[in-house]
Amino acid sequence: MKYYLDTNTLTYKPLISTPQIMFKRISKIFLGLVVLSILSFLLLTKYGYTPHELILKKSNEKYVQEIISYSGHIQALNDTLADIEENDDVIYRPFVEIKPLPKTIREAGFGGTDRYRSFAGIPKSDDIVKVFRNLDKLNGHVQMQQKSFDDVEEMVTFIEGFYAAKPGIRPIKREDEIFISSYYGRRFHPVYKRWKTHHGVDYAASIGSPVYATGDGIVKTAHYASGYGKVVRINHGYGYESIYGHLNRFIVKRGDTLKRGQLLGYSGSTGVSTGPHLHYEIRKNNRTQNPLYFYIDDLKDEEYEVIVSK
Ligand SMILES: [Zn+2]
Repeated sequence: MKYYLDTNTLTYKPLISTPQIMFKRISKIFLGLVVLSILSFLLLTKYGYTPHELILKKSNEKYVQEIISYSGHIQALNDTLADIEENDDVIYRPFVEIKPLPKTIREAGFGGTDRYRSFAGIPKSDDIVKVFRNLDKLNGHVQMQQKSFDDVEEMVTFIEGFYAAKPGIRPIKREDEIFISSYYGRRFHPVYKRWKTHHGVDYAASIGSPVYATGDGIVKTAHYASGYGKVVRINHGYGYESIYGHLNRFIVKRGDTLKRGQLLGYSGSTGVSTGPHLHYEIRKNNRTQNPLYFYIDDLKDEEYEVIVSK
């Protein structure tokens, strides 16, 4: 119960709300609310945002600007990568005899037109999506380039192994070689007294001259054979074999792994031989080759003459 001061009687009397008074009051409150709503509406339509929304809007604009500003950096990276790719295709890959990577393969692995559909309708969405697409492109190219470098590296390892294995040096030291008593090719055989193909090179050398493996490989056989006498045969892999015949003795056994230049035995005159010499033979896929073609360096003038005269 509320009271009010009656100024006529100077007494407090209970305040009685008549329906009329109540209605008047409610109308005032209602009117106030309507005026407030109209004012708020006017304010909102004039400025468009609540203070909180204004902060968010400002942040968003900053983020969008930030994302778009990366466009230039990403383009620069794509350009640099394009240079690397070009070097890869015209220098690195050809150097190890691998074909260039086709553009279609380099650009595979990205795309997907619908990936950024959710950006539609957002302000500056085209610019933002462009940034993301360029990033995807960069990512795809980097991964493909990494794979290409892996291929090149694998090939380099293969080539290194190949050149280490392929017979490439003399089997006896130059100072131990007295002369070449027989070249590769057809000749009148001194023992059989008829024309035969000579499948290797004969180095006349004193008995006991050191004989070396001419490339990395594994000893396939080290034994006595009727024609070759004491003979060592090395499997170099890649289809290559080398044979060292008429040895006085060998110091390796079947299965031994040899490095190029490793001592394998000493020259002699065992088997079918008219005098102390080393018979040196190279086979590629079991077909004999002229050993003189295999020397990386250290060719004597007369050996060079033999090669160019054929
Ligand atoms: Zn021979």
